[in-house]
Amino acid sequence: MAEAQLEPSVVPQAVKLSLTNCDREPTHIPGQILAHGVLLALGADDFTVLQASDNTEAFLGIPTAAFLGTPLSALLTRENLGVLHRAIREEHLEDNPLYLFTGLVCGRGPFNAIGHLRAGLFLLELEPASGDLERPDFYQMLKRSVARFQRATSVGDFCNLITEEVQRVSGYDRVMLYRFAPDWSGHVVAESIKKGKQLDSYLGLHYPASDIPSQARALFLLNTIRMLPDARYIQSRIVPELSPRTNLPLEMSYAFLRGTSQMYTEYLLNMGVNASLTIAITKGDRLWGLIACHHYTPRQIPYDVRTACEFLARVVSLQVADKQLHDEAGYRGRIGEVHDSMMQSLMRNEDVGSAIIGCDPSVLGLFDCGGVAVFSRGVCHRAGETPSEPELRMLLEWLRQAPDNEVFATDALPSLYPAAEQFRNTAAGILVVPLSKANGEYIIWMRPEMLRTVNWAGDPSKPVEIGPMGDRLTPRKSFAAWQDTVRGRGAGWLDLEIEAARKLRVAMTDVIQRRAEALARVELSRSNAELDSFAYVASHDLKEPLRGIYNFASFVLQDCTDKLDSENKEKMETIVRLTKRMQALIDSLLHFSRLGRDPIALEPIDLNEAVRDALESIDARLRESGAQVSIPRPLPTVRGDRVGLQEVFINLIANALKYNDKPDKAVEVGSLERFEPGFPARAQESTRCFYVRDNGIGIPAAYREEVFRIFRRLHQKDQFGGGTGAGLTIVRKVVQRHDGEVWCESEEGGGTTFYFTLGAN
Ligand code: ATP
Ligand code: MG
Repeated sequence: MAEAQLEPSVVPQAVKLSLTNCDREPTHIPGQILAHGVLLALGADDFTVLQASDNTEAFLGIPTAAFLGTPLSALLTRENLGVLHRAIREEHLEDNPLYLFTGLVCGRGPFNAIGHLRAGLFLLELEPASGDLERPDFYQMLKRSVARFQRATSVGDFCNLITEEVQRVSGYDRVMLYRFAPDWSGHVVAESIKKGKQLDSYLGLHYPASDIPSQARALFLLNTIRMLPDARYIQSRIVPELSPRTNLPLEMSYAFLRGTSQMYTEYLLNMGVNASLTIAITKGDRLWGLIACHHYTPRQIPYDVRTACEFLARVVSLQVADKQLHDEAGYRGRIGEVHDSMMQSLMRNEDVGSAIIGCDPSVLGLFDCGGVAVFSRGVCHRAGETPSEPELRMLLEWLRQAPDNEVFATDALPSLYPAAEQFRNTAAGILVVPLSKANGEYIIWMRPEMLRTVNWAGDPSKPVEIGPMGDRLTPRKSFAAWQDTVRGRGAGWLDLEIEAARKLRVAMTDVIQRRAEALARVELSRSNAELDSFAYVASHDLKEPLRGIYNFASFVLQDCTDKLDSENKEKMETIVRLTKRMQALIDSLLHFSRLGRDPIALEPIDLNEAVRDALESIDARLRESGAQVSIPRPLPTVRGDRVGLQEVFINLIANALKYNDKPDKAVEVGSLERFEPGFPARAQESTRCFYVRDNGIGIPAAYREEVFRIFRRLHQKDQFGGGTGAGLTIVRKVVQRHDGEVWCESEEGGGTTFYFTLGAN
């Protein structure tokens, strides 16, 4: 593109420049100046001329050689000399060019004199003052421009206004706004062409970062405005080339007459441009963009018009951050709106996939993107422009291999996942929100390859003039170079987009998880209920045939006892024994299933009575074991089911007696209040907890949960007096029906304590 291109640099004769080394050009020491003015470098101490441009004779009537060593006092009027000395005393001139006066120099002129101090030298730049130009009312002009800038609401509007206003003030044929991307490539975001001028538009053209080399960008930060009145004219050399004092070339970072690069002038000429003006726009301490003005004939604008344009650029620089924040706030607002719509839709709709894809405003509008895909329950929902479903499914498999479950964004998918090369026209960049990796639930926003979203400016097949540096120095070739660097890449994702995706993920997974838990609870109670009724039906129906088997086996034993040999008699006896055992199992199962089915009636129960009744019903076993049952202090009265709670104590105390090999068997039944010493951590949520403790054989750690499984016994069937293995299952069922919990703590060989809580009690 324009003045920005390779500007501002000059090719010292000894260095042969090519497009690959142009970013090493010593642009701040070009050794020559733009020939529409004169540059004098004076010693900052004695104000004698040390170096001068070799065009002094044409402008001031004195050959350059004769100029060297001349004191400044010999060149200026007394009055202007006074102005200059006052400026040096009172103003800050170090690296800061200031307008000094408009007046005669060596009796010629008038000239606009601009001066600054740099590295021990005073650089005086003289530019013929164009006294004959009609002076517009700059104050009115700028006031209007600034007022319009303030009204612009978006960065896009703002950019259009900038080019319009600068075109109006400067009068150039074409004024463009070139905006830098984070990687220093850039593109023309706004363009204003002089009324009546027929020119191809450059709007939308992109350029690689190398088009404006880093040292050119650095100089734009120092010296924000550059004018090239005629790309064809010969530049004036600085004489002598090296300073007589320092033996170094003249440092011209801040000089407005600083010579320009041959590549830049050739670039302009390749486009048919003769004159240019370039003004930097900064955001903070970073270059944000450039205002590039082109003219198709030589053009030089007066110092004060240039200053007016520079002033506009400063205003723009101050406001650009503000407009960008405003744009961002608007975008954030839109994201927030879609976020809310997605969440509401999710609340209303059980199916995550259709909730997301069906929300309004659409999920597609959450981010600036081309398409979106939502995977849920194995279904692939799509909206906008996306790859095909099989392609997306393969992409999903690739995404699921990621080690974590975090939001993922890339603007260059094909470089990570080569298969994406096939669909880079819809998904060269993706932003992924994983909702559940395990279930393959994902939302994927996608952006097409950037090349697809960029419009060609003008006719790309139209031949362009080729200069001696080759045809690369034209906007279209530059565009082609940029194409090479961005092939397979979509527009990058902004930090605010990634942040919004993270927030969305947290919000959605939270809802989904809570819903899954609620569903699991419903499912669990339903399947428990089904199991209970199955157990009831099965055990009830099994009882009948079993009784038949038992009866017939008993009859055979009684009636045919003399016809059976001893072996068959034994077999028949085994049948009778096994059917008895099976009957006991079925009875337990039936009892257990009844506990799940029948409603429980809560009433105040004095637990002291419940324990006493329980002990009574196992009196024979108690006496036989010789065990001591103690209740350290009276038990409370609770709300519960009388029969159920009695059953809990019967089973726990019976086990405590049964699984005990000690000569002095001891059982303790008690209750503990919360915060009391010994109150178990697991009961933390409850106000009270009950226990049955023994000094028996203990339960190995690995089996402390298993013992609650129905028919699970840890011993041979005849050991420790036998049993069906249903006791603890029944205990757990009763406790659960009271909204409580039961568990045990044990020490192998040292006894076991069963704890239980009773819901609200
Ligand atoms: P049932 O109680 O149905 O007649 P059971 O006593 O075998 O038969 P549970 O009361 O459910 O069945 O107990 C299951 C198993 O847990 C027992 O077989 C035993 O191995 C172990 N167990 C239960 N209570 C104790 C305890 N207090 N000390 C050591 N082991 C125990
Ligand atoms: Mg038992």
